[in-house]
Amino acid sequence: MIGAIFQQPEGPMSRRIDTYLQDLIDEDRMDFYQAVCDFSDREIGTQVLQWEREHQLVPDDCIRKMAELGLFGLPVPEEHGGQGGDHLDLILMGLALAYHCPSAAITPGAAYSLGIKPLMLAGNEAQKAAHLEDLAEGRRMFVFGLSEPARGSDAANPEVTASRVEGGFQIRGEKCWSTNAHWSSHVVVHALTDPDAPNGKRSTCFLVPMDAEGVHYQEMRGKEVWKQSSTGSIVFDNVVVSEDCLLGEWNGGFKIMVTTLNGGRLFIASLALASLAFALDKCRAYVQERMAFGNLPIGRFQRVQDVILDMDIALERNLAWLIQLTQRYVAGKLSREQAAKVKIDCSRVASRLLLEAMEICGGVACLDEFGLIRHHLDLFVTRVGEGSNFALKTLACRPLLHDIRGVLQ
Ligand SMILES: Cc1cc2nc3c(=O)[nH]c(=O)nc-3n(C[C@H](O)[C@H](O)[C@H](O)COP(=O)(O)OP(=O)(O)OC[C@H]3O[C@@H](n4cnc5c(N)ncnc54)[C@H](O)[C@@H]3O)c2cc1C
Repeated sequence: MIGAIFQQPEGPMSRRIDTYLQDLIDEDRMDFYQAVCDFSDREIGTQVLQWEREHQLVPDDCIRKMAELGLFGLPVPEEHGGQGGDHLDLILMGLALAYHCPSAAITPGAAYSLGIKPLMLAGNEAQKAAHLEDLAEGRRMFVFGLSEPARGSDAANPEVTASRVEGGFQIRGEKCWSTNAHWSSHVVVHALTDPDAPNGKRSTCFLVPMDAEGVHYQEMRGKEVWKQSSTGSIVFDNVVVSEDCLLGEWNGGFKIMVTTLNGGRLFIASLALASLAFALDKCRAYVQERMAFGNLPIGRFQRVQDVILDMDIALERNLAWLIQLTQRYVAGKLSREQAAKVKIDCSRVASRLLLEAMEICGGVACLDEFGLIRHHLDLFVTRVGEGSNFALKTLACRPLLHDIRGVLQ
């Protein structure tokens, strides 16, 4: 009797997320998503445990294969070496790759959303001609150099400084948490250039070669999240760069960085939902196999079903919301507040439910080979990365606190 309750009407268990996605996107997009899922199952799902146990970054061979699939330049125009797609393709890639390993997904994800995007937003024709094709084809990457040891949420006021010198600019200071630093040829440095200017207009962006004299990079040690992703600390010891390294306008740097982050936050939300999707499928399978109290599956307990249903509801609702907001982003209609809100909600809901998912599986959830602990740890990054949720709430709340007396009268 009880066995019948758990029978899968559609035969072998499929990813729950796929059933929701196919109602939200067209057939061509679904084919693309399935192709990336196949790649992810084959090249990442089967390898990730070994990478973790051997403390490896995403291997070069896997990066090369992602590049061959075109995953580094999905929204980049074809004439610049990209796939001519849009940000929705990037989100689908995030959902497919992060299902097995969020830190493998962030590699091409950040390469585009944090590396290529500032160049597309603010690069001049010469800069695009020099870099875009290589970046879109995954031959090298750019680092997004916003965060510093003493400046995270307060990013508008960098301690890294840049000043004009003969023939160019001199840059001093340190950036940290620099995703993809290991594979990067350049860092987009956000530096203070005019301390007396109004907030948000004090800084400028520069494209600094990682091999310039005075640039010292090292991997950050002891990081227990996004273990396959490269995260660097980069010191600029009086680095002198030429005039053509200026990216965008003088004192226009903060605008480039925050505009870039809108798309990046959507990508972070996709990572959170991929983790939730993995946990849901893992739990659906496990609670039917795990027998207890009279050799019956633990999935018969109402509390266990409660967690599974909560995950399912959260996935269906937040996925629809993320796809809808990504379409608004593609149409140029997404506000900063909307990008912040979807990142906040996907990450907090997924990370809360991940703990409950682990709890209904019991001790086995503590094992690396079970997979949930990886997603639990990586979900923490989705709460603080690309703007800490608590700091973003201040931004997202702004439009709610306008004068509403007229409405209430
Ligand atoms: C794995 C990883 C990869 C990253 N990759 C990059 C990258 O590629 N490039 C890059 O530039 N940065 C990167 N970051 C940095 C990330 O964006 C910052 O960690 C984030 O902006 C928060 O800054 P912080 O850690 O300095 O926290 P702080 O700014 O010190 O804030 C700590 C806490 O204080 C509270 N808080 C701070 N300000 C406010 C506020 N205004 N309102 C309410 N509460 C507040 C929040 O709880 C916040 O979490 C990465 C971080 C991680 C962990």
